[in-house]
Amino acid sequence: MMTTQDSSHSRWVAAWLMIWLVACQHAAVASGPELPNPGKTQLTREQQEKLGLQVAEEVYKQMPVLPDSSPETKYIQSLGKRLVETIPPEHSWPFQFHVVAQKEINAFALPGGPMFVNIGTLTAADNEAELAGVMAHEISHVYMQHSAKQQTKGWVEGLAGIAGAIVGDVGGAWGSLAKMGIQVGAGTLMMKYSRSDEAQADAVGAIILWKAGYNPVALADFFEKLDSKGGHGPQFLSDHPNPGNRRTSIQKEIREWPAHKYLSDSADFATVNKHAGSIKVYTAQEIAEGAQNGQWVAENRKNGAIFAGDASGAPPSSQGGTAGAAPIAKVSITEIQPSSVFRSANLGAFKMDRPENWELIKDQQSSSATIAPHAGVSGDAVAYGVVIRALQTPEPNMSVKQITAAIVKRLESGDSNLKQSSELKAINVSGGVAGGSVELETISPVMDAAGKPQRERDWLIMVPLGSRQAIFLVFVSPMAHFEQLRPTFERMLRSVKF
Ligand SMILES: [Zn+2]
Repeated sequence: MMTTQDSSHSRWVAAWLMIWLVACQHAAVASGPELPNPGKTQLTREQQEKLGLQVAEEVYKQMPVLPDSSPETKYIQSLGKRLVETIPPEHSWPFQFHVVAQKEINAFALPGGPMFVNIGTLTAADNEAELAGVMAHEISHVYMQHSAKQQTKGWVEGLAGIAGAIVGDVGGAWGSLAKMGIQVGAGTLMMKYSRSDEAQADAVGAIILWKAGYNPVALADFFEKLDSKGGHGPQFLSDHPNPGNRRTSIQKEIREWPAHKYLSDSADFATVNKHAGSIKVYTAQEIAEGAQNGQWVAENRKNGAIFAGDASGAPPSSQGGTAGAAPIAKVSITEIQPSSVFRSANLGAFKMDRPENWELIKDQQSSSATIAPHAGVSGDAVAYGVVIRALQTPEPNMSVKQITAAIVKRLESGDSNLKQSSELKAINVSGGVAGGSVELETISPVMDAAGKPQRERDWLIMVPLGSRQAIFLVFVSPMAHFEQLRPTFERMLRSVKF
């Protein structure tokens, strides 16, 4: 019958529509979680990649890195590739994966993508998902650009024109890396992440793991194991402070995601996990000693690493791009000796005299300038000269003392070697402007005559401008030469005219 046919037909359509709708809803859920937008930072991709490669080269100088041909490295590279494939190309980075022959559990990823995983991490992982968990967590720090974002945190927020001021490329240990919370030295690499960065790296890491087919909870398993092991991963735990409730947070996050049949261990995991136990590993102490006596440079070079100073100028690893600026080689005092002939330098807000053989390098974008001898500068590092920055103060109408102390504090927080070495004093600049003066000490980017690291003296002068702006100058020299240069620095300071 017509009517029956009609009604059965429409009932069939309704049922079909229902199924289709349910299927659509299911499909929406089945597509799974998506990675968040990583957001913006003050540093360009190129800057982050360059800095990451600079540190990677430093790692090759300070740590025993297994050759790319080792089974451990090959395995870590293929696991890393699997995880990285979950990231949309527009937000991805030139990730590279290396293994360090270190006993202690650690892993770190540098801005722009170079990642290093210790043998200790490989042998401590009970399954592939745990190892993937640590790596996904590290990849997430790079993906979210946590190091680059750290540059301006809590200081000159939202000040487009001037935001680069205090975070500009102040030289040496004051440099961009220190501002990013990255310290390399004596066989140790320290990264400083906040608890909120940690929580975010867990959350993003869980998505990467899920997309790659691993159980996200394994990430929490590994961190819990680290906590219980105490002494075996102290560096890792201080770099990655526990945000609390890692397991609960991840379990809550994955609750709504579609069910997944998670991957079990690959055959390679078992093989490499076992093989890694037979590799000669070094303790943090031994690695620090080897960094000092050049053992790792020699061994890594033998394994095919090429350093920036080497003839070919190729990067230290077969996977890297171009290496960054080399650290400043030994500099003799004659190379940086200031001329007694002074010229006026126009710095916009003020003028200052400079020795005619010390160049003025201006950086409009970061409201900054450097006056330095050619031999005293390499890339972002300034070993000799004066660095000038403009900045907006954190609060309006702060006293000279407060602003100066705030700048010192900010600089200290970005450089664990930096410490105040004098009382904070009042000083008159430009014939009557009340400013602040303080001396600081840190490690110089230039080695001493014997090729050893040496201390640096930094004389900081702060001059307020209006209610919310300030300019500060830092006169920089290795301590050994500071007194010799002090008359030049004082003459430069006396010549300041607003
Ligand atoms: Zn972390």
